[in-house]
Amino acid sequence: MKALILKNISKKYQTGKNSYFTALQNTNISFDSVGLTSIIGKSGSGKSTLINIIARIDEPTTGELYLFGKSNKKRKIELFFNKDIGIVFQSYNLIEQYSALYNVELPLLISGLSPKLAKVKAKEKLNEVGLNELAISKINNLSGGEKQRVAIARALANDPRILICDEPTGALDSSNSIKVMDILKEISKTRLVLIVSHNLQLVKEYSDRIIEISDGKIISDKTINKNEEGKILSHRKSKTSSSWINKFSLLNFKRRIKRNLFSSLALTVCLTMFILAAGFISNKNTSISDACYKQLDYGSGLIYKETKTGGSGVITLSKSTRPPLKELLQNQKITEIFEICPNFDAILPANSIVSYQDESINDLGVFTLYDFSDVSFDHSLIIKGKTMNFIGSKEVILNESGYNLLCQTLGKDTLNEVITIENQIDVPYYSEFGDTIIDTFSFKQSFIISAVVKELSYLNTPKIYYSYSFIEEVMKDNILINLSTYLSRKISWYDRIIETDDNSYLSSYSYRLFLKDYRFRDIDLSSLNVGDNLVYSSTSLTIKNSLTDFLKVAEYGLLLFLVISLVGTVIIISIISFTSYSEDRKNSAILTSIGASKNNILDIYFRESILTGLISLLSSLLLSFGLSKLINLVIFRFIDLSNLIVIPFNSFFGLPFLFPILLIAGLFLLIGLSTIFPISFSKLKTIKGELQSL
Ligand code: ADP
Ligand code: MG
Repeated sequence: MKALILKNISKKYQTGKNSYFTALQNTNISFDSVGLTSIIGKSGSGKSTLINIIARIDEPTTGELYLFGKSNKKRKIELFFNKDIGIVFQSYNLIEQYSALYNVELPLLISGLSPKLAKVKAKEKLNEVGLNELAISKINNLSGGEKQRVAIARALANDPRILICDEPTGALDSSNSIKVMDILKEISKTRLVLIVSHNLQLVKEYSDRIIEISDGKIISDKTINKNEEGKILSHRKSKTSSSWINKFSLLNFKRRIKRNLFSSLALTVCLTMFILAAGFISNKNTSISDACYKQLDYGSGLIYKETKTGGSGVITLSKSTRPPLKELLQNQKITEIFEICPNFDAILPANSIVSYQDESINDLGVFTLYDFSDVSFDHSLIIKGKTMNFIGSKEVILNESGYNLLCQTLGKDTLNEVITIENQIDVPYYSEFGDTIIDTFSFKQSFIISAVVKELSYLNTPKIYYSYSFIEEVMKDNILINLSTYLSRKISWYDRIIETDDNSYLSSYSYRLFLKDYRFRDIDLSSLNVGDNLVYSSTSLTIKNSLTDFLKVAEYGLLLFLVISLVGTVIIISIISFTSYSEDRKNSAILTSIGASKNNILDIYFRESILTGLISLLSSLLLSFGLSKLINLVIFRFIDLSNLIVIPFNSFFGLPFLFPILLIAGLFLLIGLSTIFPISFSKLKTIKGELQSL
């Protein structure tokens, strides 16, 4: 059987828009399966073109090529390179950065041999070309003759049935040329060796057949020795394993360690930003709520009716009045979670006088704490002392700065001391007959300081909380004597406030709403649409809204920064991988010429990037973990928001695996965008072009 048959092979090169150069014309030729055949001819006659078509690093324009009876149109190119044909070039085309041994191992690994076997076999092949001692030397350090012998060993590694050599001795001196020719002659006993050479003396001495070519045509074909038909070499078939790709990627990674670590740094910054942004977005509302809950009278607010009195467009003038109690009681939303109470601010305001043993203490605000049940406020805020029986009692709770103020003014620990709260005010009643009846509201009560609470730092103006239910009892028990006499019925201060006009100051223009149970605080009060013209307002809500607005600005800033760093990272890594790939084009062509597939080559770069990516992932996880702790510490110190950033490993937008999935998908997207994309843009010229450029 013929090893090779060429049928009507022609090759035209495009030289201009409509001009072609015919480098090979209708060539018909065949080759036996053993022997050394030389192709000679002047420079430019078409020798390399012919041999490249046979080696399939170039495609013919027309015609068909049969290799052991199989058409070139039916065989996968990488199998062809790997098993059928070994190629040796004048310029060696070895992978310079790696050892002689690894260069010879590569085609074996690509063809699926285990690393162990590949090593044994590669050593054998190096032995055959007399290089066993130089196996671990880097190609860089070898002489031309040695390099050419490594190239022959590599070409023979998979026992190809044909060995093709384009000017194998072109770059060698005469003694090295003879060594190489001796080796090739030996090889030609078992397979077809096709060489192109200029050295006519060597050609005559070694060849079994000499073919001369001129202007793309065969002009003579002389057989000198008719070799016996050799035994056709067996054709192994094996699966390609990918372990060599890992090793190659790893070697590439190490070779470009600085560059890869730089990419990794860029990627780390980007991923860290992403992780921190995710941690911020997922936990900021919880963090805000937690902060707002650090207020003893959270959920104590006012409800009033707002009536528009003028203005237009953005400016509206309005007046607030107390809403009719009936209307509030009909509102289920309100009655479900709130207790509606009269507002005593007009007669017992926040600036009532507080004194200790007749010494008055300034700047201590007095607030009522709803306490009709044990769960009406959060007892866990207490940091000092404890409430024995707060409901309806004469106990008071101080906040931290209130406590500090008291201790400072009095020069001693004031826990369990007794203070007095007092206020006196004349309240007139104007009858419809023009009479004015005046009663004096006179309040003076002693309270025991039973506990201290820690509140949100910006609410930490000195405060004292007393029991609302106690005050209510006092209001119910105390009678307005003059008014009661005038109207001949018993009127308490409680009744007086309830009965007053909704637009009189005595009503303080509102009702007080208290959360019945502090655990209701999880209900989003800001979304509490209480009804027509009704407005609910509370300190907690105000703080919550301003914190939310503030963090929204921070969030937009962070997202903008994230986008910028994402784009920057993609650009940086794209440039880096494009450069690396361009530098390595020749290596890629070499790998192709020894049997690696296109996907293998892409895989090599992809895995190098994945390695870079994994390093970045790990470092960004560590970095963001550390940074989040640090940022949380600083934020807590300055704006009292705790755990502002919590990396959402457990759940992100309520989904348990969303965050890791997003993170890994993001990583692959980044790597894909910045590696695969630029690489697929920088396609190899042609294998031939890469391999023949010196
Ligand atoms: P040689 O016998 O020296 O190996 P080649 O086969 O390399 O000759 O080239 C044959 C002819 O084809 C030469 O004239 C060369 O200039 C031309 N040629 C080779 N490659 C190309 C190409 N890619 N484009 C245009 N012309 C080419
Ligand atoms: Mg040539």
